[in-house]
Amino acid sequence: MRAIDPSSGAVVGDYPDHDDDAQEARLQAAARAARAWARRPPSERAAPLREVARLLRAQAAPLAELMAAEMGKPVTQGRAEAEKCASACDFYAENGERFLAPEPAATDFSKSYVAFEPLGVVLAVMPWNFPLWQAFRAAAPALMAGNGMVLKHASNVPGCSLAIERLWREAGLPEGLFASLLVGASKVEGIIAHPCVAAATLTGSVAAGRSVGEAAGRNLKKSVLELGGSDAYLILDDADVALAARVCAQSRLINGGQSCIAAKRFLVVDDVRGEFERRFVEEMARARVGDPRAEDTQVGPLARVDLRDEVHDQVERSVAAGARLLLGGEVPRRTGAWYPPTVLTGVRRGMAAADEEIFGPVAAVMPVRDEAEAVAVANDSAFGLGAAVFTRDLARGERIARHELQAGCCAVNDFVRSDPRLPFGGVRDSGYGRELGVFGIREFVNVKAVCVR
Ligand code: NAP
Repeated sequence: MRAIDPSSGAVVGDYPDHDDDAQEARLQAAARAARAWARRPPSERAAPLREVARLLRAQAAPLAELMAAEMGKPVTQGRAEAEKCASACDFYAENGERFLAPEPAATDFSKSYVAFEPLGVVLAVMPWNFPLWQAFRAAAPALMAGNGMVLKHASNVPGCSLAIERLWREAGLPEGLFASLLVGASKVEGIIAHPCVAAATLTGSVAAGRSVGEAAGRNLKKSVLELGGSDAYLILDDADVALAARVCAQSRLINGGQSCIAAKRFLVVDDVRGEFERRFVEEMARARVGDPRAEDTQVGPLARVDLRDEVHDQVERSVAAGARLLLGGEVPRRTGAWYPPTVLTGVRRGMAAADEEIFGPVAAVMPVRDEAEAVAVANDSAFGLGAAVFTRDLARGERIARHELQAGCCAVNDFVRSDPRLPFGGVRDSGYGRELGVFGIREFVNVKAVCVR
């Protein structure tokens, strides 16, 4: 596997793939370690989680450098990502025992309760966009629940994959319980079928989700799928438009726009559209694009040149179908995977910017008449990951967020973000199952009824 710096095209490192023998040895070792780990009480399992949190904080700077080198994330955001991983590990170390405590059930038995027992080794297939966060948010609850984990990370971040394995080892996790597999996507189906693997979780594209879901189904193994999104942000007639423009630009540009829960479609009612577009374009144009290693950079390059080309193709197809460019939309003449903050308006269903997920700094403004049309357009999507609504009427906002929008995470007057304390996941093509919170730790357990007469 080769890691390439997307800001320059330079080779960062070459890593030999794990061959079939190495893969087999790692799967066997993980299954062996998981059998012993499952018998350790939750209070003991919490110790390496606390220690890995400490290491993540202590090593935030070099980890951020590594992410900048392999996928172009600005170092300030990389350090914040390491801190967020630490907070998730602390959260499960702190609360895991409580989440896993048996729940008594009143039945005809003299004693009956529900216990949460580990399943075994979970395969985690992860994407490159938050190379640490995606892996830690899957690993922390799975390990705390008594499982083992093998990580098949995205092929463009092999250094991050090995760094994650090293962090768990340094944190004192039993040898082999968490293992990185440097293998390509074609190996995933076979790994799911392997008798050492009990379940699979994937964060990634819809296509990858379908293939992992199919393989898990064929092998009757539990799966969780966190897939793409095309989050709609509704800007209503009574919105604080300045706030909406600021928050929408922030949400669209985080991680260079390469986030599943980035705001992607902006459904702006006609009354405020002129003001919103003016302010939003100002905010998007103000973002500092540049060297991901510079402390003041807000937007780095995209992760790979082929992905940048895909984003540009989506913009060009949208313009050809009638969308209008308000900002950006041109590939800069420089080496690397650069793309500028871009705003399209006049976007409608049938255009790439409305129907497909754009994984880059491209915003699609979709004009709507009123609240009813905004809700209808928001829900008229294959995806259902996140959504947000901007209105000064909080009761109205909450009603829309709770009852109208068909998505897994909905915000009022703010952007959607993941938080270890809240469940995270989507509906429809955005996948199934939940990560984080109490729901996340209960995905990969045997929910066992124990009855004593
Ligand atoms: P991707 O191409 O689907 O890759 C994700 C992972 O799946 C990689 O490890 C990849 O391996 C593997 N993979 C790809 N095709 C596969 C297949 N047919 N069978 C098994 N594994 C396969 O996605 P990406 O481009 O890295 O990430 C962007 C996507 O992830 C976006 O759609 C984004 O919305 C989604 N995402 C979702 C969430 C969420 O929580 N819902 C969070 C972040 C990202 P290789 O690298 O070796 O191909």
